[in-house]
Amino acid sequence: MAEFSIIDQYFKRASKSDVSLGIGDDSAIVTPAPSQQLVICTDILVAGRHFPLDTTAHAIGWKSVAVNLSDLAAMGAKPHSILLALSLPTVDHGWLAGFSQGLFDCCDQFGVSLIGGDTTQNSQLTITVTALGWIEHGQAITRSSAQVGDYICVSGQVGDAAFGLKHPGHALQQRLDYPTPRCNLGQQLKGLASSMIDVSDGLAQDLGHILKASNVGAKLQLDQLPIDESLKKLEKQQAWHYALAGGDDYELCFTISPQNFEKLLRQQLDVPLTIIGKITQQTGLSFVYMGENHPLAVQGYQHFA
Ligand code: ADP
Ligand code: MG
Repeated sequence: MAEFSIIDQYFKRASKSDVSLGIGDDSAIVTPAPSQQLVICTDILVAGRHFPLDTTAHAIGWKSVAVNLSDLAAMGAKPHSILLALSLPTVDHGWLAGFSQGLFDCCDQFGVSLIGGDTTQNSQLTITVTALGWIEHGQAITRSSAQVGDYICVSGQVGDAAFGLKHPGHALQQRLDYPTPRCNLGQQLKGLASSMIDVSDGLAQDLGHILKASNVGAKLQLDQLPIDESLKKLEKQQAWHYALAGGDDYELCFTISPQNFEKLLRQQLDVPLTIIGKITQQTGLSFVYMGENHPLAVQGYQHFA
């Protein structure tokens, strides 16, 4: 089957009206609104490395979009469109139907259009999505402006996806397969959060990127970590390991002044938030349990381990 019939059959759909030219020409065209900046990111998913080989095609389609929308959310950007670079070992129609359905389900939920891509044959299944979003000029929330005294907050629960990976068939596998990008929350944090990151490689490691970029430290309250009931039943060390070192949660971790946190809570939020600690002058990440310092070694996901 030719590349073009795959594209026509599975990936060519009407784009939103704000896409000037979608799939079918050499490039796509989008017209930015006057005061907006373009926010762009890309993520590669390799079969067997970024998702288990038995993951359904539908979940792979969903996740390949969701992980990118999560990166846009972590800047405060409004998602607009994606490009899809797909390398397929074979043309499997059942797989392509499930994959494209999952991809479009995620696109539809967040108002995103697929505007282009590339399709090729290769021994390994890899999916590379590039996402485009908009933000008002100068409003993007980066990793480098956390302030001493800020609260450290996280959305939803952490450790779910890592637990789901270890326990196939458990309800939390859903959180691994179908992560929810926190697109609304990300945009609501514009003008309020001082720094932000999405949790893809483990909370401790990802928060560490904020601390390094902002040249500050943090004290985390271990008993405040928002974890699932299934994790609460584990030994504390194990639960903390999932919560702090488990990847693939795609929650937002942000820093915010106490005054701005009050303002945030006056808005309607679609996900629970938890204050898990505070930014400190002293660099490095330290942990507190029951009011006492609690030494803990955590390592997040290593891409080249
Ligand atoms: P070119 O050879 O000029 O790079 P292609 O023949 O690769 O163009 O692609 C034809 C059109 O289909 C382009 O608009 C391209 O963006 C789009 N396209 C190719 N593969 C995909 C895909 N997997 N998903 C969405 N659009 C795709
Ligand atoms: Mg091509």
